[in-house]
Amino acid sequence: VSLVVQKFGGTSVADPDRIRAVADHVVRTREQGHAVVVVVSAMGKTTDDLLRLAHEVAPSPPGRELDMLQTAGERISMALLCIAVWDRGVPATSFTGSQAGIVTDSLHGRAKILEIRADRLKEALAEGHVVVVAGFQGVSRGRDITTLGRGGSDTTAVALAAALGAPSCEIYTDVAGVYSADPRVVPRARLLSRVSYEEMLEMSATGGRVVALRSVEFARNHHVALHVRSSFTWEPGTWVRNEEAPMEQAIISAVTHDTSEAKVTVEHVPDRPGIAARLFRALADESVNVDMIVQNVSIHGATDISFTVPLADLPTGLKVTESLAAEIGATSVTHDADIGRLSLVGAGMKTNPGVAAAMFEVLAEAGINIEMISTSSIRISCVVHRGDVEDGVRALHTAFGLDLPDEAE
Ligand code: ASP
Ligand code: MG
Repeated sequence: VSLVVQKFGGTSVADPDRIRAVADHVVRTREQGHAVVVVVSAMGKTTDDLLRLAHEVAPSPPGRELDMLQTAGERISMALLCIAVWDRGVPATSFTGSQAGIVTDSLHGRAKILEIRADRLKEALAEGHVVVVAGFQGVSRGRDITTLGRGGSDTTAVALAAALGAPSCEIYTDVAGVYSADPRVVPRARLLSRVSYEEMLEMSATGGRVVALRSVEFARNHHVALHVRSSFTWEPGTWVRNEEAPMEQAIISAVTHDTSEAKVTVEHVPDRPGIAARLFRALADESVNVDMIVQNVSIHGATDISFTVPLADLPTGLKVTESLAAEIGATSVTHDADIGRLSLVGAGMKTNPGVAAAMFEVLAEAGINIEMISTSSIRISCVVHRGDVEDGVRALHTAFGLDLPDEAE
């Protein structure tokens, strides 16, 4: 028997009907001759509700207790799913992250998996049970319960697939797979049948919300193929794995966008060694997550430095930057919370010059001003005014030939 790991997100197990539908699918998979390990998220918006509850009780709950609280969400769905599977005449056993042997470091709220001692899972599988594991959680070496960060169930699933030697991991969600753009913004976005790990990493990092970034990194590092697909239609979706470059590779695979960041500009900073180091060290020490950084050419020994941070980190980022400005000799700090980022992602970019030029031309034609630019070997990102983001995504999607053809009449 070959082993299949299936992960179901919150919407896939949101209510009793959904849980029964998932149980049917798990049993079907088993009847096809597979051993099945299931990883579940908390039902629907449970994690958000639990977090809200904690903050209603006190303004800054301790990390250990927050983790204890949040892991309850996944325990509910794992037990309910096992109950539904047993009802179909198939034995099933649920395991918390701790019982599943998922050992993490002790950083509450964003713990990293250190190792998986999967012997209990292997025993249950050997006895013919369906194994259901609570996603997004583990236990530290000091035996405290930890969580892996929001969206962490994807990471649990990929890590279990790697630890148990499953060749692939199915990520079931409420969309058909990975699209060439967000279908809510671009109705003619197409479902991608396959993308490389590299492309998926860039997409997840720049606004593609289907698979959590860390789980894609994990999958790439451990050679686990991902199959992202719908738990509503059960149709095949998108394969994420190492892709051999096809003969006729499309230059661009997807257009992503992200409106969750703000821009901070430090004006008139002295242009000498050590200034950027001090600024970004101070931000890092306060756990401000800096993303794009642009420094201007200096004029008369002074320059401007702009960077983006998640909107949630903006207040801290501003505080740190403002308090440092005088020390490093900058004249002022400004910010803009009304920005968005447009990105083109495609492995074909490596071998095709002119993609950046074409992107800027499309935005110019749409009357969209570019505020910042950054690139990797397979991505180009532009920061623009937030109000221009959706028009920009549509214009780029069309210009790079990604639109689905008109429906045949
Ligand atoms: N329930 C957790 C969350 O909502 C983990 C997950 O769904 O992957 O972030
Ligand atoms: Mg979730």
